[in-house]
Amino acid sequence: MKYVDEFRDGALARGLGAAIARELQTGRRYAFMEFCGGHTHAISRYGVADLLPAGVRMVHGPGCPVCVLPIGRIDQAISLALDHGTTVCTYADTLRVPASGGRSMLRARAEGADIRMVYSATDALELACREPARQVVFFAIGFETTTPPTAVVIRHAARLGLKNFSVLCCHVLTPAAITAILASPAVSAPDAVPLDGFVGPAHVSTVIGSRPYAGFAAAFRKPVVIAGFEPLDVMQAILMLVRQVNDGRAEVENQFTRAVTASGNLKAQALVSEVLVARDSFEWRGLGELPASALRLADVYADLDAELRFGLSYRPVPDHPACECGAILRGIRAPRECSLFGTVCTPENPMGSCMVSSEGACAAHYTYGRFRDFPIVAA
Ligand code: SF4
Repeated sequence: MKYVDEFRDGALARGLGAAIARELQTGRRYAFMEFCGGHTHAISRYGVADLLPAGVRMVHGPGCPVCVLPIGRIDQAISLALDHGTTVCTYADTLRVPASGGRSMLRARAEGADIRMVYSATDALELACREPARQVVFFAIGFETTTPPTAVVIRHAARLGLKNFSVLCCHVLTPAAITAILASPAVSAPDAVPLDGFVGPAHVSTVIGSRPYAGFAAAFRKPVVIAGFEPLDVMQAILMLVRQVNDGRAEVENQFTRAVTASGNLKAQALVSEVLVARDSFEWRGLGELPASALRLADVYADLDAELRFGLSYRPVPDHPACECGAILRGIRAPRECSLFGTVCTPENPMGSCMVSSEGACAAHYTYGRFRDFPIVAA
């Protein structure tokens, strides 16, 4: 296929649905987690769940960049603007993630904080170059997809010798999160749906390749199929997962061969390794503190680390007590199982991070009216 609309062909999608149904073993139920928010969005937007046979259930994972940002990190960014007088630049979705005290970065801006939306890390660097009297902080978030552009900007700022630019680095790592989900006692609890495998992320895998998934696929005996973001990509990946489960295999397969290789983008990986190193530990919303699951600036670039420059400390803050984002990000609750879903919590007034971005499970369900998804609790 050459064109995007061919990957959205209804007849082909129904054919794939029928092919999946034919492969199912009688009486067996299959549950697969789509790790990535892009897949969650595609599944909701294109009604993929409606095309799957009743025996196949999709469980949403934590792969939405703003969803996994804990409140404490948003508080740090707000503090940089309000308490330290800096100009904080970040991506649009981040501005709406709930912080503590009913705040968000947008609301802090209404209180006078200089917080700006940018399209890229480069925008933040250019602002620092244009206005040398202003301390500019780039609040860097996201998985491996957005990490290389941040690394480029840090290296460039160092070469320019900029003294008014720094980065609050909250980039997180996909393999660590999947491992944490599989190792979580909640996932193996008697009332949880046992996961049979993963639809692996698309864009992340273009950077890291397919190889990093091999370790936990083997250790936890869970197949992974990396898939593109179009509906036929996702359905083909589900068919490949069903076949692996039926064969008793737990391999890493690549459906998204038009963009993903085994090794990934080696140039980007080398750049990231030069500029950023693993943190000992990092708090994820919903998953808690995970070792070696996020990045900070390497010691040689410490001058550009906003946490060090402004002496920030980290204070964990619990979510709204009624918000089920944590359980949704661990794959043990569905959005409509939250009592706030669609009433108190909407995309216009998000109470939790999963309702903010189009990649968040709650926002995707709300936007595309997918209120009748399968219950998560095992039948
Ligand atoms: S509906 Fe809102 S409050 Fe409930 S889990 Fe989703 S984001 Fe959190």
